[in-house]
Amino acid sequence: MAGSSHTYAENLAAAEEHLARFRSEPLPHLIAGEAVPSVSGETFANQSPIDGAHLGDVSAGDAADIDAAAAAAQEAFGAWSNMPGTKRKAILHDVADLIEERAHQIAVTECVDTGQTMRFMSAAALRGAANFRFFADQAPGAADGLSLPSGDHINYTTRKAIGPVGVITPWNTPFMLSTWKIAPALAAGCTVVHKPAEWSPYTAHLLAETAQEAGLPVGALNVVHGMGETAGKSLTEHPAIKAIAFVGESSTGSMIQAQGAPTLKRVHFELGGKNPVIVFDDADLDRAVDAVVFMIYSLNGERCTSSSRVLIQDTIYDEFTERIAEKMRNVPVGHPLDPGSVIGPLIHPRHHEKVCSYREIAEADGATVIEGTPWAEAPADGQWVAPMLFTNARNDMRIAQEEIFGPVLTAIPFTDEADAVKIGNDIDYGLAGYLWTRDVGRAHRVADALDAGMIWVNSQNVRHLPTPFGGTKASGIGRDGGDWSFDFYMETKNISVALDTHSIPKLGG
Ligand code: NAD
Repeated sequence: MAGSSHTYAENLAAAEEHLARFRSEPLPHLIAGEAVPSVSGETFANQSPIDGAHLGDVSAGDAADIDAAAAAAQEAFGAWSNMPGTKRKAILHDVADLIEERAHQIAVTECVDTGQTMRFMSAAALRGAANFRFFADQAPGAADGLSLPSGDHINYTTRKAIGPVGVITPWNTPFMLSTWKIAPALAAGCTVVHKPAEWSPYTAHLLAETAQEAGLPVGALNVVHGMGETAGKSLTEHPAIKAIAFVGESSTGSMIQAQGAPTLKRVHFELGGKNPVIVFDDADLDRAVDAVVFMIYSLNGERCTSSSRVLIQDTIYDEFTERIAEKMRNVPVGHPLDPGSVIGPLIHPRHHEKVCSYREIAEADGATVIEGTPWAEAPADGQWVAPMLFTNARNDMRIAQEEIFGPVLTAIPFTDEADAVKIGNDIDYGLAGYLWTRDVGRAHRVADALDAGMIWVNSQNVRHLPTPFGGTKASGIGRDGGDWSFDFYMETKNISVALDTHSIPKLGG
């Protein structure tokens, strides 16, 4: 089992053991139950965020591989969607069992592939199993509909799986996020072609392999690796693929919508965020400061729901930013496999460069940069950063408007409730919002006024899987969780049966 029960040395040894297979031969696609290379034979290199070392090569898929995977998903669809929901439930629980058994392997692999730390990835692997269990339990009722009688007719609705679907995922917490999209698709009766992020390919392979070994039928879950512009694009354009569930950047979502338009793809988008956490001066500041620090410096700040803009009432701005800074300086940066580390290296040189560039941008715009404590032993060629806090910021600065996606927090003062709401909403994104106050009326007013898909009052992001997850504005289209996921992966049909009592217009005599 995963967890902080493993020592640093044990994690290092497990990494050595579990990653050896990726060094010895290129990571294959998994299509129709077979591990296969790309039709073209092309591969790309995967590198370690820890020290820049070459971790292994990965098959680079394109249209031909997507075509084979879509055909496999199409072939498997009939039997899987027609299987009784109770049987799908049992198989998906078996998948969850096996994920739990392999959770340490999954977590260690994820840490080395992404730079995320064990402290969070051990829980993320188990959350992957929980996602499978949650949606497995709903599989038997997924097709249930509503009874909507109208006097002369009995109307009832049913739901059917939409068909083979494409799932395209990012690199920030790839295993957990993939299960969040794939588990409901499978529970609904859809079959899946998964295109994981090219910067973090390994745990997608482990997921499909584990699912298959647990008894998921051949072709129900296929994985094609490769670049977004080739493999990803082909998946969004494929006529056999009925819907695309996508998690990633807002600009990519917009490309996918255009690519999917000719085949009228149904799309579900979980996109970027620049989420405000609003701290009023009457809040429980001890709890608020811990939540603020957790929601930006956990998961390397590479989290769509991170509270990356902290809006602080001007009466407590100096005191509260000083409290954040004090804690930030003590957030440990270190090797991702060390259970004591909170922040690990960022995933890729390109992302590292982007995150670090905001230091100069902040200074040029007139904000104050406060830096945390770097890891003294950080390997030279890794993508290491220390956490940062930008104070004296205004909401019109780039550091307040752009998603940095790193352990970087922008602190902005506000005067009163109206000002807080105005600043909170003055942004292209609308994923999540957090607010801290002891005034119940104000809590409800501000929660209502903030334009975001999810609001937490006096809390950090604490997920309850039956609740809807998703964003407004540039943060997404659609909701996941509970029954919302099934609405996306299924078609609703209305059946209207007459009671032979209504009149039928007589035309022509
Ligand atoms: P990205 O958009 O660059 O890539 C995501 C995936 O899309 C990758 O698999 C990539 O290969 C693929 N892709 C790229 N171009 C494509 C195209 N033209 N057609 C089809 N597929 C294509 O995102 P990223 O940098 O990997 O991830 C970070 C982003 O993800 C951040 O913006 C973050 O906020 C967002 N995110 C959102 C949520 C959420 O739930 N809202 C969760 C996690 C991450």
